[in-house]
Amino acid sequence: MRTWRAQRLGKLPPYLFVEIDRARAAAIEAGRDVIDFGVGDPDRPTPAFIVERMSAALRDASNHRYPLGRGKRAFRQCVAAFFQKRFGVALDPDREIAALLGSKEGIGHFSTAVLNPGDLALVPDPGYPVYISGAVFSEAPYHRMPLREERGFLPDLGAIPADVLRSAKLMWLNYPNNPTSACAPLSFFEEALAFARKHDLLIAQDAAYCETYYEAPPPSILQLPGAKERCVEFHSLSKTFNMTGWRAGFVAGNAEAVGALADVKSNLDSGLFGAIQDAVIEGLNHIDHPDVRGILGVYRERRDTLTAGLKKLGWAVNDPKATFYVWVRCPKGVASMDAAKRILAEANVVVIPGIGFGECGEGFIRFALTVETPRIREAVERIGRMKW
Ligand SMILES: *Cc1c(COP(=O)(O)O)cnc(C)c1O
Repeated sequence: MRTWRAQRLGKLPPYLFVEIDRARAAAIEAGRDVIDFGVGDPDRPTPAFIVERMSAALRDASNHRYPLGRGKRAFRQCVAAFFQKRFGVALDPDREIAALLGSKEGIGHFSTAVLNPGDLALVPDPGYPVYISGAVFSEAPYHRMPLREERGFLPDLGAIPADVLRSAKLMWLNYPNNPTSACAPLSFFEEALAFARKHDLLIAQDAAYCETYYEAPPPSILQLPGAKERCVEFHSLSKTFNMTGWRAGFVAGNAEAVGALADVKSNLDSGLFGAIQDAVIEGLNHIDHPDVRGILGVYRERRDTLTAGLKKLGWAVNDPKATFYVWVRCPKGVASMDAAKRILAEANVVVIPGIGFGECGEGFIRFALTVETPRIREAVERIGRMKW
């Protein structure tokens, strides 16, 4: 009997969170009081003014038909205005911007749009798994760039082997970074762009956490002169507006690469629901609304509670300047999977083992700040009672 499952699915890296997922489900089933720092999914609702706009947009019959390929002109103009105001970057709404069904969708399909079989993709390790999924589905090889703590979790571009570079076409970057919460200064983007010019690479920078920051607003790689020759940037509305369930994002940058992705998409999907586009426009036009910026205050308080608590226990914590993740060194000598399993078994607290994001994530665990402050205090107390 032949197997119905395509072999390429077997080339995806193993999903290492199964055991933790299972243990979490069993703990909840058993009625244990679980505090879950696992999923990177905001716990608070979408700001009411955005929901209101969506509600009105639902009654607009023009939104009931197929949306246009790259998004409504008003959507793309709004993104262009946001980019101008936020980053001082001028974008052509017709050629350099396309709407996505969440940025994950665009990231996943981007490899199909730009890689030929055999073209290699450079991906960060630890990293968001979708960069690799996209490469695997396009039969493209990939090479992991280690992100090390001593380099501020920025890849050492000089360490990429010459034979890898010869077949490389695409480099993925992700700052502010998931899972390490590291930020890249514009000077690193400058170094990456110079490197890409030298080796004739396309850069795809994942900016999902660009609006989730506690200090200086993170830069866009498109701010660099000439960046549009070989860079695109993926943006998400999910984290900015607590709207992960809505599925909205956009890509901006190099017109040829944006156009290639739009062509792939027009063959697979029929665009982002018009009412969602209207709601996103409302959000982006009022990004300084207290209900939007207030989200950052909530995460800041949680971040301060968790980092102070863990430091008091003697843990080595990376203070996040952006994202809603805290990337923490495991107690000495404990593997990340063992640490996560023990914390769940003994403290009823769910954290993600770093190894699940790649080999270089070993030795770390990730906390997502999607838990209310009093519960964070409770979690720290429980972890504090453990003996390592
Ligand atoms: C959440 C996330 C995304 C994708 O978010 P969407 O909901 O698909 O827009 C992309 N990259 C990283 C690193 C993320 O954490």
